[in-house]
Amino acid sequence: MNLILFGPPAAGKGTQAKRLVEGRNMVQLSTGDMLRAAIASGSELGQRVAGIMERGELVSDAIVIELIEQRLPEAEAAGGAIFDGFPRTLPQAEALDQMLASRGRKIDLVLRLKVDDDALKARIAGRFAESGRPDDNPESFVVRLNAYNQQTAPLLPYYKNQGKLVELDGMGAIDSVAAAVDGALDS
Ligand code: AMP
Repeated sequence: MNLILFGPPAAGKGTQAKRLVEGRNMVQLSTGDMLRAAIASGSELGQRVAGIMERGELVSDAIVIELIEQRLPEAEAAGGAIFDGFPRTLPQAEALDQMLASRGRKIDLVLRLKVDDDALKARIAGRFAESGRPDDNPESFVVRLNAYNQQTAPLLPYYKNQGKLVELDGMGAIDSVAAAVDGALDS
C-alpha cells in the first residue's frame, strides 16, 4: 500500500504518518524531515536548502525527487510508503508516478486532510514558540501556506481524476482524525 497524506502545512500529516508507522507496516517518507536531516548534518545539500526552507519557499523538484527515489527500495521492502509532504508540485507527482510504475508499483490512495486557513493559523501560532523550526514563524508560515495554495492544491484534480482522492475532515482532535484515516485505509 502506497499512501499520500495530503494537506497544507500544520494540517497534521506528520502526526498521522507517525501513528501509521507504529500501527502498520509502513515507512514514512517525509521530504521535510529528510531536508532537515541534511541541514543538521551540515552537508552541501543542507547548506543549499537551508535559506529556502527558512523562508518557507519550496526547494527544487529535482532535489526532492532524488531524495524520494533513494528511499523507495526501503519502503518497498517494508510493504509500503506514507508520502508526507511529497509531492508538492505537478512535476513531483508525475515523477512519483513514473518512479513507482518503473518498479511495478503505484499510489493506492491520497488522503486529503482538510483544515481551513484560519484554523491553521491558530494552530501554528501555538507552535511557533515551542517548535524550534526556523520556518515556524508568522512570515514564513504565510509563504508556506501560499506555496500550498498555489503550487500544491492544484494536484487535487490530478489525483481526483485518477480516482484516488479521499477527503477527510482534519479539523478535529488527533484521535478522531486518526479514526477517519483508519476508516479510509480499511475500506
Ligand atoms: P514540511 O516539513 O513538509 O513542512 O517541509 C518543510 C519545508 O521543506 C518546506 O516548506 C519546503 O521548503 C521544503 N520541502 C519539503 N518537502 C518539499 C517538497 N516536496 N517540495 C519542495 N520543497 C519541500
